[in-house]
Order: sequence, then C-alpha cells, then structure tokens
Amino acid sequence: MNWLTEANVCPGLFYGTPARDGFLIRIRTPGGWLNPQQARHIATLAEQWGCETIQVTNRANLQIRSVQTSPTLEAFQALQQVGLAAQNPEVDHLRNLMSSPTAGIDPQEWIDTRPLVQALDTYIQHHAELAQLPAKLSIGIDGGGAVGIGTRAPLAWEHRYNEIQLSAVLANVPENRQQRTPREKVYFRLALGGDKQLWDTPILIAPDECVSIVAVLMRVYLDYVCSHPTAAKKPRMKHLLQEWGLETYLDRVSDRLEQPLRRVTEVRKPLPTQPYGHLGVHPQRQTGLSYIGTGVRLGQLTIAQLLGLAQLAETVEPGQICLTPWQTVLLPNIPNEQVSDQLQKLASLGLPISVNRVDAAIVACAGKPGCAAAVTQTQPHALALADYLTRQVTLDRPVNIHLTGCPKSCAQPSPAEITLLGTTIERPNEMIEGYHIYLGTHSQSSLPQFHSIPAADVPSLIEQLLNQYKNYRYSSDESLDEFINRNSIKQ
Ligand code: SF4
Repeated sequence: MNWLTEANVCPGLFYGTPARDGFLIRIRTPGGWLNPQQARHIATLAEQWGCETIQVTNRANLQIRSVQTSPTLEAFQALQQVGLAAQNPEVDHLRNLMSSPTAGIDPQEWIDTRPLVQALDTYIQHHAELAQLPAKLSIGIDGGGAVGIGTRAPLAWEHRYNEIQLSAVLANVPENRQQRTPREKVYFRLALGGDKQLWDTPILIAPDECVSIVAVLMRVYLDYVCSHPTAAKKPRMKHLLQEWGLETYLDRVSDRLEQPLRRVTEVRKPLPTQPYGHLGVHPQRQTGLSYIGTGVRLGQLTIAQLLGLAQLAETVEPGQICLTPWQTVLLPNIPNEQVSDQLQKLASLGLPISVNRVDAAIVACAGKPGCAAAVTQTQPHALALADYLTRQVTLDRPVNIHLTGCPKSCAQPSPAEITLLGTTIERPNEMIEGYHIYLGTHSQSSLPQFHSIPAADVPSLIEQLLNQYKNYRYSSDESLDEFINRNSIKQ
C-alpha cells in the first residue's frame, strides 16, 4: 500500500513527506493527550519502522523521522481505531489543536478546555472541505490556568503562533436587557495571529459558542483562500488580515452568525504564566492527586521511554500522558503517596525531574543530515551542549536555548533566551560549522551579539554567559532574559 494522499510539504500521517533521512510522519494528538494504549501503539509502530526515537513537537504532537518504507493500510487503520489518525485522511495534515497540557487538572484554570478541543477536532474531521485551508491552520485554546499555552509570552493570547487563539477571561456581560447586575463568567477572548504578529480583538465567545464561531472563522478564511486560486502557495491568515484588515474579517464572520460577535473590552485576565512552571511535582485541582512534569532531552523519547511512560500511566486512574508544546511530558493523576515511587521510576527511564536541569529547555531542529536546508548538525551539537552544561553549570531555573540550522526556526518559532543560528565558517583549507548567537527575547537587532562561533567553542561560551548571569543577577527571581535586557553583552 502506498501513501494514501499525495506528498505534502507539511508532514502528516497519510502523506509521504520526504526528508534526507527518510520519510517524516507526524501523528496528531489533539491537546497533546495520549492514553497508555495509544502510547504503546506508537512505540510498536516506531519499532516496526526501524526508528529509535519519537519526537515530541512544539505543537505537542508526535513525529517519527527516518521511516524508510511507507506504512501499510493496516497500520493507518489501526491508528484510526485507537484515535490517533483523522478518519478523513484529507484533513490529517492540519496543525495539531493546541491546549494547555494541564487542562482539567490545573488548580488555577477557569475552564477545562478538553471537551472543547475534542469537539473542535471532531468538527474538523467531519468537514472535508477544510482540507483546502493551508496546512498551517493553527488553533489554540487556553483555559486561564497556571500553565498557559502562552508560557513563552506574558499572557496566553500573546502566544503569536496560533492563527486562531481562544483564551479564557472573566467578564460581566448582561445576558439580556433586563439583567442589571450580571455575574462574572468565563468567556474566551479571540486573538488572531500570523508571522509573529498578533491581532488582538475585543471579541468574547461563550464556551458553548466556540465550535460554531470557530467554524465560521474557518469558513470565511476558506472563502479567502478560494478567492486566490492562482496563488503559488495557499494564502494564510496573515495575508487575509493584511489584505482585508481585521474589521472586515470580523464583519464577514458576524454576517454569517445568528447573533453578531460580542465585543467587550473590560475583562479580567488570568495571571501571567511562569516559563517551564510545569516541570517538577505539582498539586492538581483534584484533592490528593499530583502531576509530574519532566524534561525530555531535545524532545526525543526512546521507544523504551515511551513504553515506560505508558506502564507508569497504567498504574493510575485515569492513566494519561500529556505532551507539552515545550517538548516535555506530564504524568497526571498520581496519588500523592505514590509520587516518590513514580519519581524513582521516571529517573530509571532516564527522565529525572528537576527544574534545575539545564537541558530541560534546550531545543533543536532536525538539522543536518536530515534536513536539506540545514547548515549545521543541530541535534548532536545540542546534545553536546546539554551534556557540557549539565556537568559545568547548576541553575535554579531553566534557560531556554534554541539551536536552529537555518532561519526558518522549525523547532521554536518564538524567540529564545539564547538562540544559536547555524552558519559555516571559512578556515584555511576547510569550512567548519558554527553559530551566530543572539541573546534575549526582546532584541530588536537583527545582528547577533556573537558572530560565527565555531560549534566546538559554543559550550564554553554559553557556560561563561550563564556564570555571568548567576553571579551578577539582581536575585534568583531575575530571569536570564531580564538580565540580558538590562545589560548589554557583546562579543
Ligand atoms: S529550521 Fe531550517 S534547518 Fe532546521 S529543520 Fe527547519 S528547515 Fe531544516
């Protein structure tokens, strides 16, 4: 059996997306939630396909690289049966629905978004015409908890990498004209995004309206795409907003609804989220239960680790593994008295928990040799950096370091505290691999602070930077990003 649909540049399950090291398969896990049976199934398939690792991606789905032969029809069907593949292959390539990995267990959340994610996923799977939307259609739903999907931004709706973002807020909205003193209730505030730009809106959507309104947002987006039949590439939300403007788009959506979109500017926003605040052991909203957040080196789970996580999840009820957009993993629903036992078992799987682990927030794209666009071997360089820093530096908070083999930044579209952009450096008689190093998430400069550093010299340079940060920060509350902003560090 061959791939069911034609090759697609955006990987999915049913598409033979080629890379230099074989085919690339991406398995959708809406919200990042996997049950033990699904985890076992994926581990078995990866083994059959001759792959050693399974990658947690930055949309909290799973990706398997270096697949040398096309999966059989039976493999596709089995994945559909365990709920890991769209029933309609045509829509499978659309981006994974993103939600907070602590949805339903977060003590601070205002609403559990899991039913909404499931309802929206079902809607998309039953509307084949949505396959005409760009594969990068991206939807995020945030419930206002302590672990928001905008963890790398101050507020959930400032996460700029979802084209359609719904973020829980509280607002007093009269339900009818007679109601003088409305009660504060949960709504979702709509923001639109694209190309690292945010179009915030005053639109509030009640939870029971979400599916129908997002459906119309997608349909009007689809109209826009279909009105450009000769475009070389399908236009995206950012093009729609640039060409029509935000108000025209919202007006066209309102025109298709029974009630116009609700505009409210006075809202109560959730507290800002803490970067990597999900790592470690945390109490759940359910009394007596905790969740454990553990780092995964470069988001790469070995088959043994995935099977081990499935086994651990099976010992609790309900057993679940939550993949996060930060390429880490959560194990929820652990009775408090079992936490220390589970921690030992995680450590024996090579997944120890420690918020101090310097490698918990290092991310790297595929790089050479798998990706044709790459100029550096980002993965081995990232592993060498992680090993070196683990030996040399102790941190009391994770530092987000991103290695990318070209400016496309597949591994992390948002700025990192330290970004390493691959380059080649000319030396007498040879070209060597190296990195330009950018510091801070707020840098307005397109110039790196450190230019053309040979890959072999990167670990000691980063060590020096981290030691400067440790020695000269105001307090342990000051992040590396804040430290960089108030100092000017140059080569
Ligand atoms: S960021 Fe560039 S080099 Fe890295 S995987 Fe993406 S396209 Fe390839």
